[in-house]
Amino acid sequence: MRDTGKETVAEHYGKLLGIEPPWEVRTAQLDLLRGQVEIEVAWNESALVVCPECGEPCARHDHAPAREWRHLNVMQFLTIIRARVPRCACSEHGVKTVRTPWAEPGSHFTLHFELFAVQVIAACRSLTQAADLLELGWDGVQRIVDRAVARGLARRSTDGVLYVGLDEKSFGRGQRYVSIATDIKGARVLEVVPGNDQAAGESLWQALPAEQRSRVAAAAMDMSAGFAAATRTQAPQAAIVHDKFHVAKLLNDAVDQTRRAEHQQLQAAGDDTLKHTRYLWLHGQVPEAKRAGFAELLEINLKTARAWAYKEQFVEFWAQPSVAHGADFFAQWRRSVMRSRLSKVKAVAKTLHRHLTNLLTYFLHPITNAVSEGFNSRIQAIKADARGFRRFANYRTRILFHCGKLNLLPVLPSSPTH
Ligand SMILES: [Zn+2]
Repeated sequence: MRDTGKETVAEHYGKLLGIEPPWEVRTAQLDLLRGQVEIEVAWNESALVVCPECGEPCARHDHAPAREWRHLNVMQFLTIIRARVPRCACSEHGVKTVRTPWAEPGSHFTLHFELFAVQVIAACRSLTQAADLLELGWDGVQRIVDRAVARGLARRSTDGVLYVGLDEKSFGRGQRYVSIATDIKGARVLEVVPGNDQAAGESLWQALPAEQRSRVAAAAMDMSAGFAAATRTQAPQAAIVHDKFHVAKLLNDAVDQTRRAEHQQLQAAGDDTLKHTRYLWLHGQVPEAKRAGFAELLEINLKTARAWAYKEQFVEFWAQPSVAHGADFFAQWRRSVMRSRLSKVKAVAKTLHRHLTNLLTYFLHPITNAVSEGFNSRIQAIKADARGFRRFANYRTRILFHCGKLNLLPVLPSSPTH
């Protein structure tokens, strides 16, 4: 009776795991102390093995040393599969470890576990939370993320990507940057690379196969020289469209610098007019409660107010109906700015004038880096989850995992046919 019972437990686990001949479950033991179920799977010695490279049946050479795979928990018990996988001696490929039906080569997890883990990680706010839920260490979670992204990238199609965004993001402390490429219509991150210079821009472009790269119609980017130069070498046909968020930021900074200088001047004379007004000048919308006060500020003859007005006027540039209208609008705006004595705004007008050709492309390809901006909070959260990215590579794969719209899931073997 006892023997039969033991067999039944092994058979039972065999069915649960979907183990089929010539693999079989030898033993299934419950280790109450460790809270663990350990399942030993073995290969039927009389069966032929198949070379993992060419699929030809061949003789069994020997067995690889015993290995373990983490499987889905049985009830509350952590479940481990243990096996010595046979190695074949293929006449063409030499000695190779055969493939197991329950795991991808090189993984320490079964397919079922990885499938579950990928979904848990995708749903979690942080890697810590995922690690806790999965009862895994950080490295284990990171390995699952890496493998999922490798799977997703191998399956990814970039056919039809016509609009690309290149954008830098701050990374780590100090002036360190990473750059990301986005598929603007597909609203997904295509690649993440360290740095923000021309070489970084070129690496980003190379995320697209050469043929698709040559079909990209336009790319949104800031006015730094690096990304534009990279675009000219990697996708010379693509129109460069300088991103309106970056233009808005330049103008905002000019207003802010003007305010700071003017505030210092006024304060030296005991005038607190500009105190606590910083955000009123920067945001498009002034809060209801501050509106009356702000209207009064605009009545006073302040340099800050004039700089603010030029910034506000420029918003209309983007609404022009054509390249010709855009060019006319810009010429008028610039003339007016250059007659002013607002050195910071004048500097921005000069920069914009230098890049005018690639500002006017907006009227042919109205694209921006809004997709990239939209990923900011997610990327910030990944960055804040600091323990996980000692290495840039971890950071990259985690951004691609969460923002790449990749097909990350492993494919389970077809269900048993018996
Ligand atoms: Zn072979």
